[in-house]
Amino acid sequence: MYLGVDLGGTAIKVGLCDAEGNLLSTYEGPTGTEHGSDVVLENIAQYARKIVSDSAYTWEQVAGIGAGIAGFMDIPEGFIKLSPNLGWRNVPVKRILEEKLGKPVKIDNDANVAALGEAWAGAGKNIPNLVCYTLGTGVGGGIIVNGRIYQGFNGMAGELGHIPLVPDLEAVVCGCGKKGCLETVSSATGIVRMAKEAVERGEHTSLALIEQLAAKDVFDAAKTGDETAGRIINRAALYIARSMAIVSVIVNPQRFVVGGGVSKAGDILFDAIRSYYRECAQETSQEGVDIVPAILGNDAGVVGAAGLNLRS
Ligand SMILES: [Zn+2]
Repeated sequence: MYLGVDLGGTAIKVGLCDAEGNLLSTYEGPTGTEHGSDVVLENIAQYARKIVSDSAYTWEQVAGIGAGIAGFMDIPEGFIKLSPNLGWRNVPVKRILEEKLGKPVKIDNDANVAALGEAWAGAGKNIPNLVCYTLGTGVGGGIIVNGRIYQGFNGMAGELGHIPLVPDLEAVVCGCGKKGCLETVSSATGIVRMAKEAVERGEHTSLALIEQLAAKDVFDAAKTGDETAGRIINRAALYIARSMAIVSVIVNPQRFVVGGGVSKAGDILFDAIRSYYRECAQETSQEGVDIVPAILGNDAGVVGAAGLNLRS
């Protein structure tokens, strides 16, 4: 049995998986971020013991524990250097959890872990080489090579949201401080930004009538034929497809898996991504390659975290 921990800013989700990646049960409790890292790590330990004691299995049957955490980290050391959403700096997660739980602990960033979840038991099952995008507030990514997460030299491999591809004249500054990153156009935040700009320019669009614009409003408007909304969605899709064309000649994955809140838009987004990808990716690099939606949803994090002890 393998235990996965999805450590978020407000909730900790733990999941119990078997050795094939089947998710048997989950348990969720508050993170307790405001009480500091000692309390948060103690909460993880308690939820981990609880999910096992509530199951048909014993603690002895747990072979390892993995945790997915947003932030910058030393992955082999299991050490969080900086996690803005937890307010953590220099927290030795692996060491503390191993002391508390007496099991091997591995950590990785949340996007890598979600990619591993999809590769192990989701939309990428039995596909050894795949690349996963998570389109949400930002754009996350994970690269799976030969069934394992590819982390790179210092853990930055798969940070697909920061591929700089928007031409200078159209580029805006990204949260990372650089200009023209993929996530400035293809995240929910980027889509909303482009929509607000179009409204401010006085474009004739139904989006002007919506007060608290969300990415979903832009997709909904595009589906009803709103030209401005359609153009924004196409632009978001175009840059994802271009990034995939780049990734295809570096990693040559067999499949792209796209998840996250924005991916719920469905066909309107996927059809556009696929068509731009066919148009711009080098031909041999796209032969036999498909682009599919993620299927594990919010469970990808716990499943992938559980898989860290087997496949990272
Ligand atoms: Zn960036």
